[in-house]
Amino acid sequence: MAATETRGRRALITGIAGQDGAYLSRLLLAKGYRVYGLLARRSNESLWRLRELGLEDKVTLLVGDVTDLSSILRALEEAEPAEVYNLAAQSTVTKSWELPSLTAQVTGMAVVNALEAIRSADPSIRFYQASSSEMFGLAGKPVLDETTAFHPRSPYGVAKAFGHWLTVNYRESHGMHCSSGILFNHESPLRGSEFVTRKITLAVARIKRGRQQKLQLGNLEAKRDWGFAGDYVEAIWRMLQQERADDYVIATGRGTSVRDFCRLAFAHAGLDYERHVETDSALLRPADIHAMVGNADKAKRALGWSAGTSLEALVAMMVEADLARVDKGEAA
Ligand code: NDP
Ligand code: GDP
Repeated sequence: MAATETRGRRALITGIAGQDGAYLSRLLLAKGYRVYGLLARRSNESLWRLRELGLEDKVTLLVGDVTDLSSILRALEEAEPAEVYNLAAQSTVTKSWELPSLTAQVTGMAVVNALEAIRSADPSIRFYQASSSEMFGLAGKPVLDETTAFHPRSPYGVAKAFGHWLTVNYRESHGMHCSSGILFNHESPLRGSEFVTRKITLAVARIKRGRQQKLQLGNLEAKRDWGFAGDYVEAIWRMLQQERADDYVIATGRGTSVRDFCRLAFAHAGLDYERHVETDSALLRPADIHAMVGNADKAKRALGWSAGTSLEALVAMMVEADLARVDKGEAA
């Protein structure tokens, strides 16, 4: 779709200050959208990603929380969006065992708020739900697609499965344009350091600069399908440009173990991961997912999307960004 067709269009993003919110804001601004974001402002620090992309003053931030229906309604009134992207979540799998009830509220139940607010404000608004490969969990198949049954392994995965089915249900019950993107892990220099890829690249940078010696990790054999977040927001946007709403798996199709991610990241900085990585059983999960690889053929066919960035390029981008941060004295 040409940029001229989207100029002046308005979008509301929940979770705008997160990794995907920042990249999606950049993409939509480049297409000429006016971008509004619902921000549960907990501290000034939460804006670091928008700042890093130079977008803090280019988007309109509206104070609100997805668990508070009235704040979503007010945001819809103010933003008058054509598209709503629901990215807000308690998005950390490990924390979801410590905070299961909060995770259910923010990651699951809040999807009801977003959909109900749209249904009452303007049911023609197009809706995107940030669903997750974590819904598959113990899927029992090596490669997963839209037809694979869910067996989530964490409170986070369970909450995302609720949000996914609710999105499908509002499409089927109310005829609303609601799409669910089942995204496999996607990373970037803006990834939170609680996730394993960024934990590794930040440690590589600190070790390289002599600020740290060792890196403690949990399950090194877990395999994930890691893509670049900057590529994935393009798929998200394309979903809402389709005439009919639908659900799509977004993935690279390549599985890599945490161990091999370490190998690549340390090697990029000229280091040997075996000299620095240690395992700590306290970092193992109550239930993990051994391996997850996605098949994004449907997205390729219907959206013309495929992952453009290789894992090697992603690792290089993340390590370089963390080296630059450590050199500047920043530890984002
Ligand atoms: P992030 O954790 O980086 O961003 C989520 C954002 O939601 C944060 O800015 C967070 O703010 C905000 N938020 C949390 N609670 C609330 C609330 N109650 N009201 C409003 N905002 C809130 O996640 P990503 O950008 O990586 O992911 C975007 C979405 O995609 C999430 O829903 C995630 O679960 C999902 N997803 C992500 C994948 C990935 O690999 N990145 C894979 C599949 C799905 P704060 O930081 O202040 O809490
Ligand atoms: P997730 O797939 O959304 O849970 O993304 P994460 O990056 O949090 O975890 C990916 C995989 O890395 C999981 O199988 C974890 O068990 C594994 N892993 C190994 N060590 C760590 C660690 O120290 N932190 C995190 N977050 N994950 C780890």
